[in-house]
Formats: sequence, C-alpha cells, structure tokens
Amino acid sequence: MHSYQVGLLGATGAVGQKFIRLLENHPWFTLKVLGASKRSAGKKYKQAAHWIEKTELPSNAAELTVQECDPDKFKGVDFVFSGLDSSVAGDIEQTFAKAGIPVISNAKNYRMHDQVPLLVPEVNPEHAKLIKKQSFDPNGNGWIVTNPNCVSVPLSMSLKPLHDAFGIESLVVTSMQSVSGAGYPGVSSMDIVANVVPYIGGEEPKVQTEATKVLGTLSDNSINFNDFTIQATAVRVPTIEGHLLSVSVKLKNPPSTIKEAEQAFTDWQNPIANLDLPSSPANPVRLYKEDRYPQPRLHADREGGMQTAVGRLRKGMVMDLGYVTMAHNTIRGAAGGAILNAELLAAKGYIS
Ligand code: NAP
Repeated sequence: MHSYQVGLLGATGAVGQKFIRLLENHPWFTLKVLGASKRSAGKKYKQAAHWIEKTELPSNAAELTVQECDPDKFKGVDFVFSGLDSSVAGDIEQTFAKAGIPVISNAKNYRMHDQVPLLVPEVNPEHAKLIKKQSFDPNGNGWIVTNPNCVSVPLSMSLKPLHDAFGIESLVVTSMQSVSGAGYPGVSSMDIVANVVPYIGGEEPKVQTEATKVLGTLSDNSINFNDFTIQATAVRVPTIEGHLLSVSVKLKNPPSTIKEAEQAFTDWQNPIANLDLPSSPANPVRLYKEDRYPQPRLHADREGGMQTAVGRLRKGMVMDLGYVTMAHNTIRGAAGGAILNAELLAAKGYIS
C-alpha cells in the first residue's frame, strides 16, 4: 500500500550511514538519491563514505553516485531525510522545502521554528498538523519536520507518562553521552579514552528547551510550549552507543507511593500502536525494575534501537522522583526516529 522513493541529505555522515543501514530492507521506503558535500559529490558512495556500521554496506547504496544537495538532482523523490551538518542544514533544507520536496530532518536548525513540528510519534503525533501551516512552499508540497536531539528524545518519552499522570513542574537532567553522538571522527581519543569530558558544546540549551515543545499543546498556528523548566548538564563518556540520562523531577501532583509512579509507566498507552508502523517498537517506554538496568551496552539495541528504557525509579530527597533513562542516540535519537516520523506522516496521508 505504501511505496515511496526517498532521498538522503548528509548520506556520508554517522547519522546518514545509520539511515542507509535502517532503510536497506524497509517495506515502504526505497533510497534513490544520496547527497553530501562537494567533497563527496561525483564519487560512488562506497568511495565517498568511511563506512562505520557493523553490518555490510548495502550494495544498492554502495554503487550510487553521491550528488550535491541540490533539489534538481533529487527530482522524482517523494521526500528526503536529512542528516546534514547543522552548519549547512538551514539553507539546504529550506531550498528543498521551497522546491516542493518534504524534508524530514535530524538537524537542529528548524526545531524551534513556529510552524515546524518537533515530532516524537508516541508523544505528540497531533503536532504533525502544523505542516499545513507552513509557508516554505506556496503550493504546500514542500515542508519540514524535525525530530528532537538525541537527549531530548528519551527525556520527552520518559517524561510523557509522568506528565500525563502527575504534571511536571521542573527537572534537572545530566546526560552521559556516547562518542557516536559527536559524529565521525568525533572526539579525539586522547580526550575520551578512560576519561569523562564535562562539557559538550551547544548541547545543554537544546536539552533545556526541546522537551517543552514536544510536550507542548497545539494551538491554531503554533505550539504552546509546556511551562516546566529544565536544568541540563551534558557530559561525554567513553561508551559507543546509547545516551544515559539521570533525571530528577518535581511534579505538580506527586504520587504518594513509588508504586503509583511505576503504574504511570506501565499504564501509559502508546497512541500510535494501532497504526502498525514498521519501525514502531511494541513497547516504546520500558520500565526496568532491576537496580543495575538500563545499561547502554546491554539495552541500547533493544527493539531495533527504538525503545526508550527507564530504570532506578525512586523517591527523591530534593525533587519528587529520580530515575535514569536511556536510548540509542543514532537510532531512536536520530535516523530511526526520523524514519518513524516519516512512517507516521505517510500513514496519516501527509506524503503523497
Ligand atoms: P557528520 O558525521 O559530521 O556528517 C555530516 C554530513 O553532512 C556528511 O554527510 C557531510 O558530507 C554533510 N555535509 C557537510 N557539509 C556539507 C555541505 N556544505 N553541503 C552538503 N553536505 C554537507 O555528522 P552526524 O553525527 O552524522 O550528524 C548529522 C546531523 O544529525 C547533525 O545536524 C547532528 O547534530 C544531528 N544529530 C546527530 C546525532 C548523533 O547522535 N550523531 C543525533 C541526533 C542528531 P561530507 O561527508 O561530504 O562532508
């Protein structure tokens, strides 16, 4: 029923490679055009990309010639995914939208734009309606949808059951972020081997705002951000994949027992479960009761890397609740999240 021809901007990067791996046998989406910088354009993908995935480079992608990120080179695609570096994503993504090509992006540039949905399908699927308000393309064919940054995804998903049950007043979060979050070649080995770097440039402002948009409410022409406040600290740790977050949260109507808090997670219903989207995890937010779980190495790949894990749920001494949460940063927090967004938008008829 669903069959789409797809382009990929930023195909040679760490996130771009994850897209190529995840789309290899996708039942709805077929990769037709790969784009990257002038440095890569004109080369076969297998020569342009330094392949860092654990699986074999798919043969169809290997033989495609990389194109410049120019809409004329992407004629015939139904939409593009973007894993572009944010230094160039702003202009390039807008050029595609203006040319009538929908863009489903990982980059930060349009996340806070008034008419651009910051979408996590299990949390705010109704925000997709904002697409109809966009004016990038007067004909309405081209638009931009984004997914949150790789910390804000597990943060928003883990907060959603608590928000629905108790309301959120404020929170403090420390994210322990794996090296794959810095792309390739990323952080210098001299900095990160057997070490922790207590600063990730530009990360904390994103974490302090994005979840308030994701958990905001849709009004006529924009999103009313939720009014809770977030204090974030982002540190780089020597794990490869999976960002682990320590969260302390103050609630509007706190539960009187920890059992009630656990129940908020176990009772929460996934609003898109009935759509049967190919990348949708059966259990998007899993609560672990074992004190030593979740761990990035053990759990980041669960449910194809699309599950957000929650554990260590406990009463706090300063805030109402403490917990840890973890998700695969380049799958759930990037390429996989964007693919799920595209599946939702296709199922809801936004992509023709
Ligand atoms: P990356 O490995 O540095 O890849 C960047 C990509 O952008 C490459 O394909 C590169 O092509 C392309 N590019 C750079 N300059 C260009 C230009 N002037 N014109 C066209 N293409 C250009 O970065 P990444 O880690 O994959 O991240 C990609 C995006 O996803 C970023 O916006 C990042 O913030 C976001 N993101 C990353 C993660 C994560 O965990 N890594 C999570 C969520 C979101 P060349 O190879 O030709 O230079």
